[in-house]
Amino acid sequence: MTTSKQPTGLILNIQHFCTHDGPGIRTTVFLKGCSLRCKWCSNPESISLKPELAYKRSQCIGAKACGLCLKEPCVERAFYVVEGEDDRVHVNWDLATDCGKECADVCPTGALYMFGQEMTVDEVLAEVEQDSAFYRESGGGITLSGGECQLQADFCGALLAEAHRRGIHTAIETAFNVPWANVEKVLPHVDLVLHDHKLTDSDWHKKWTGVDNRQIMANFKRAYETFPNTQFIARTPIIPGVNDYEAHIRSTLALIRQYPNVIDYELLPYHRYGESKYEFLGKVYELKDFTSPTAESLQRLQAIIDEAFGRSGQPAEG
Ligand code: SF4
Ligand code: SF4
Repeated sequence: MTTSKQPTGLILNIQHFCTHDGPGIRTTVFLKGCSLRCKWCSNPESISLKPELAYKRSQCIGAKACGLCLKEPCVERAFYVVEGEDDRVHVNWDLATDCGKECADVCPTGALYMFGQEMTVDEVLAEVEQDSAFYRESGGGITLSGGECQLQADFCGALLAEAHRRGIHTAIETAFNVPWANVEKVLPHVDLVLHDHKLTDSDWHKKWTGVDNRQIMANFKRAYETFPNTQFIARTPIIPGVNDYEAHIRSTLALIRQYPNVIDYELLPYHRYGESKYEFLGKVYELKDFTSPTAESLQRLQAIIDEAFGRSGQPAEG
């Protein structure tokens, strides 16, 4: 129930026992909505700021055995069967308006389901605090991710402030492509910011993510300077042919090494996850040609970072 006056957020998923989203064992809350359109995105369900209908055809038991979605609920008549095929339904995605009012509820097998659930701060923290014993043991806490969590800035600020009040360490994963007014609401309640730095060149940034990086770059610098007691870790998802080149790594280092509160720079090798989710949402995965970076390429780039941070002999993860 969402009856209190607390701000509510549109939550995609709450994942327990995460170990790559900040220190210790963490509970990661994925928020819906993103302001970038990265061509390699493996989370298409996180892009829209609205709840979204999804359909796994392999789980449909067919119109004869069930057929519930073909009857009452859908006023748009978005579901149909094709004669001569097996009788599992198809979705006309032009008609499926994502209202999700009833079709996902009536589907007995979970073939139809919704991405995105509205939750209050207390509801999220009730689930997060199930893991408090692990936070205490491991130095972990809560991490907000997305999509771009800072798009829901009022909710994020309220959630993280309350987590702090309860003694929970807070982190966010962000690409910083939001107005500064959003950042000001969120960052005062954040202990650690894990932020993407996808591409240095603004035109390339636009080509690959849909927007140039001017707002992002301005936000980086302003955030480092405005929140000197907050820790930052820069991250680059390495996509071969897009940003696996030394100039990008060196220019990121030239920026972040000016700020002592940027404590590290991590490389995240691209993996081809999430392709099937495009199909479940009736979307097309445009770029099937991306490959994962090689271990050699990662090691070469990691060595540049290690040298800049005064480390040596630390092999990159493959
Ligand atoms: S309600 Fe679900 S299982 Fe039943 S026909 Fe529709 S999609 Fe298939
Ligand atoms: S920032 Fe992340 S969620 Fe948003 S489009 Fe890029 S890869 Fe997808």
